[in-house]
Amino acid sequence: GHYSKEDIYKLMDENDVTFIRLQFTDITGMMKNVAITKNQLKKALNNQCVFDGSSLDGFARDAESDMCLHPDRDTFTMLPWRPTHDGVARFICDVYSPDGEPYDGDPRRILKKEMKKAEELGIEFNVGPECEFFLFEMDDYGRPTTQTRDTAGYFDLGSIDIGGDIRREICLTLESMGFEVEASHHEAAVGQHEIDFKYDTALKTADNIMTFKMAVKSMAKASGGYATFMPKPRSDVSGSGMHLHMSLMRDGKNLFDGPDDPSGNGLSETAYRFMAGLLAHARALTAVCNPTVNSYKRLASGYEAPVHITWSCRNRSPLVRIPSSRGKGARIEFRSPDPSANPYLMLACCLAAGLDGVEKKMTPPPATDCDLFDLPEEKINEMGIETLPLSLIDAMEALKSDPVIANVLGGHALHNFLLEKEREWARYTRAVTDWEIENYLQKY
Ligand code: GLN
Ligand code: MG
Ligand code: MG
Ligand code: MG
Repeated sequence: GHYSKEDIYKLMDENDVTFIRLQFTDITGMMKNVAITKNQLKKALNNQCVFDGSSLDGFARDAESDMCLHPDRDTFTMLPWRPTHDGVARFICDVYSPDGEPYDGDPRRILKKEMKKAEELGIEFNVGPECEFFLFEMDDYGRPTTQTRDTAGYFDLGSIDIGGDIRREICLTLESMGFEVEASHHEAAVGQHEIDFKYDTALKTADNIMTFKMAVKSMAKASGGYATFMPKPRSDVSGSGMHLHMSLMRDGKNLFDGPDDPSGNGLSETAYRFMAGLLAHARALTAVCNPTVNSYKRLASGYEAPVHITWSCRNRSPLVRIPSSRGKGARIEFRSPDPSANPYLMLACCLAAGLDGVEKKMTPPPATDCDLFDLPEEKINEMGIETLPLSLIDAMEALKSDPVIANVLGGHALHNFLLEKEREWARYTRAVTDWEIENYLQKY
């Protein structure tokens, strides 16, 4: 780490900090935090801040409800949308039991564990996300809607892109928090935006995704609007994905770069094996990368979201796409994940899937370079191409029957994840939706 305790005290003084938020992420991907004031900082930095974890979704067992938060000093950042006098700083924390045992239901620990396995092979896992989200308006009572006056589309600018000013504020805020923003633009749907920040090691990227969502939501709210990372908020337009660009490094060398690739794609054998692992475990990964009922409304449609388990260097419909960049930038793009995923669990499972492919020397199926959206389903079946799960319940079944991915979560987190999601599925299937009323009320 690069911040000592002394550095932290200095940063607190320099930035006029009074409140410190101790943050962590629960199994369902929600950021949680408890605020302390500066007089408790010493206690916090000595890993002595204990809280009751029993009422967190999918977290503690009742019998072990006391949890201890260990701040990761390197995650220090100010929350710039809070007041500058008596300001607010935060740390992302690891969760421990009061007697000093790391808590095995902590998603951040689950990711660290997988990264450790890679480290033992001398491998570093780098990931860069493409974060998409919607900016919507509030109604007269201050409740979020799915409405927007924005009429812009992909890469549009100017007067029709009324979210442009908010996007600018978000980017400036992120940069002040240490993000390197690489690109930001209007996305295809009305009210939809994308901001891409620089890739980093998986742990840093997962932390960044959590911080990013908090910043975007806070900045949108400050401007009187509302930001949502719900995967498919409107049925009439594209949903929001979170494409993940992945590569492996060893001794500063990108292991995916393969200038001598006989197929001319410029990828190494390791890259093909890693990709083959992702494809082989794709169905189980879906439960973790697309963990809401709503996720499947995005994946089922033809709005540039993947449906079939394929890869390609060319078209944009496959599950895995190979971006054109080579050399240090050689990478593969995994396109099914959406922003409702818990980023720690998602990256842990993706890494395990890819490394399983490397370890078992898997080979991917041939590339699919045609646009599958133009082909009838029978033809696709004939080609032996599988599809992603069609619903959350199918995805959970796939997760349960894939020991490699299930083992990443481990007993406790797996149990709680499935429990939460089965409840969610049961509530959803019993709900009578607007669609049913519209289609059946008068008909029958
Ligand atoms: N919004 C699309 C999705 O759901 C992606 C669009 C794009 O970036 N090409 O994944
Ligand atoms: Mg993009
Ligand atoms: Mg995009
Ligand atoms: Mg992309």
